[in-house]
Amino acid sequence: MKFILKLLVLMASVAVASGANFRTVIIDPGHGGHDNGGQWGRVYEKHLALDTAYRLEGKLKALGYQTVMTRRSDYFISLPQRVTTGNRFNNAIFVSIHYNYTWKQDVSGLETFYSSSEGQKLAYHVQKNLISRTKTVDRKVKYARFYVIRHSKLPAILVEGGFVSNAAERSRMKSAWFRDSIAQGIADGIQRYRREN
Ligand SMILES: [Zn+2]
Repeated sequence: MKFILKLLVLMASVAVASGANFRTVIIDPGHGGHDNGGQWGRVYEKHLALDTAYRLEGKLKALGYQTVMTRRSDYFISLPQRVTTGNRFNNAIFVSIHYNYTWKQDVSGLETFYSSSEGQKLAYHVQKNLISRTKTVDRKVKYARFYVIRHSKLPAILVEGGFVSNAAERSRMKSAWFRDSIAQGIADGIQRYRREN
């Protein structure tokens, strides 16, 4: 009897530890402080990412998630610090938010990166919902060895919400409704991932 009870407790704790039951989302706004990220005129990636992160945090809290932000204002944190913040948690996922930049000004669209198989599932749902919310160019889900997703022990993704270097995307990014639909697309994707895993 005692043994069965122990076994049940063990099974319950294993179930909680699996990815599907996460209640916490680590939100990682890219760049900050002296690191502006992509930049065009006075449009800085670091500001866009932080604003989108706050919007995502609000939506996730309303859905009952706990959230942790790796930075809450315009200051610099290292990549290892971002990873360490996330890796303190077990039942959690890690979502890094960025905006893209390239010297080719005609390049546009949204893409989501992953580096693990669990991250790939999360990336798939987030990218799908991002595209349906924003109706923009789909640059698809991609494997990459970016530091923050490679070193995270959590299901981790890195979202690129469009190109600061593209005139049309830049003008959309400057408006709150677009950053809000990026945040909404990410939140929808997280919900979908949680339900289907
Ligand atoms: Zn970036």
